[in-house]
Amino acid sequence: MIENALRYSHTLLKNTVVRGDKVIDATVGNGGDTILLATLVGQTGTVYGFDIQEQAIQTTKEKLMLTGLSEQVELYQQGHETVADIVPEKTEIAAAIFNLGYLPKGDKSIITQGKTTIQSLNEILLRLRKSGLVLIVVYYGHEGGKTEKEAVLTFAEQLPQESFNVLQYNFINQRNTPPFLLAIEKK
Ligand code: SAM
Repeated sequence: MIENALRYSHTLLKNTVVRGDKVIDATVGNGGDTILLATLVGQTGTVYGFDIQEQAIQTTKEKLMLTGLSEQVELYQQGHETVADIVPEKTEIAAAIFNLGYLPKGDKSIITQGKTTIQSLNEILLRLRKSGLVLIVVYYGHEGGKTEKEAVLTFAEQLPQESFNVLQYNFINQRNTPPFLLAIEKK
């Protein structure tokens, strides 16, 4: 079976992240990506997790405690656009993941926004190590999603080929608006 965008993002993370790495979950939500990243980096690594909603941070904190993965995760209830306040510029980041859109089973009016997503991407790309990956799972079926999708695509398309490989991964025959994946690799 060909993996969907979310599953393929996890496959790429598994192929890239090793014990001791420093990584970023830019949209913690219900913690699915945070748990995977925490497992991959192990106790010697660090996951920096960001979400603006208390509900997301609390849910994820509980899941991390139940799975014994709290030690390697720092959760911040603040926007990913503030990543530079938390992650020093000299820190080498192995991977970062964004899931755009709203919190599943949460308030559908609280969504990621193109402007702040791109601010965050710029800061993270500065810190990305060679062969590191930034993954963006783009959900855009909700109100406001299309504007963000276009902004992020325009940003990604303009990244210089000398420095980055940029992949778009999506099904082209599916109904509705299935999410797609953008993968940015630092050369
Ligand atoms: N990765 C999550 C998971 O595995 O459950 C799903 C994330 S959900 C699609 C998007 C999340 O982004 C929401 O929880 C929302 O609160 C959060 N969000 C919105 N704006 C944000 C921002 N500026 N910085 C960080 N998180 C933000």
